Amino acid sequence: MWVASNGGFNVVELKCSCGGTAKRVSDIEYKDLAFSGWRCSKCKEEMVDPYQANLYLKYAKLRKEGKLKVKVRKIGNSLVISIPSVLRELLALKEGEEMKLELTKEGVIAKV
Ligand SMILES: [Zn+2]
Repeated sequence: MWVASNGGFNVVELKCSCGGTAKRVSDIEYKDLAFSGWRCSKCKEEMVDPYQANLYLKYAKLRKEGKLKVKVRKIGNSLVISIPSVLRELLALKEGEEMKLELTKEGVIAKV
């Protein structure tokens, strides 16, 4: 069980039920992804940030329903695809940021 020290979850530290202190981290592994959250320095228990967990659930639902498809559009001489808002928020992507594209046998991978 976790208790937010100021009553909210937008905090740097949380009190853990073991008596330890959980600090903000951004490397909690879940579903082969890295999430932000808190990790107790004493018992090592981890808690994914509820906001990110909620975004992930939205993403998983859209993916399951096959709704994460985007159309290729043309702007000038370039072809562009849009990043769905749920992915933009999960990745904390901002306009103007660079993404690296990689061609693999599964398709194109865009890395932040
Ligand atoms: Zn603990």
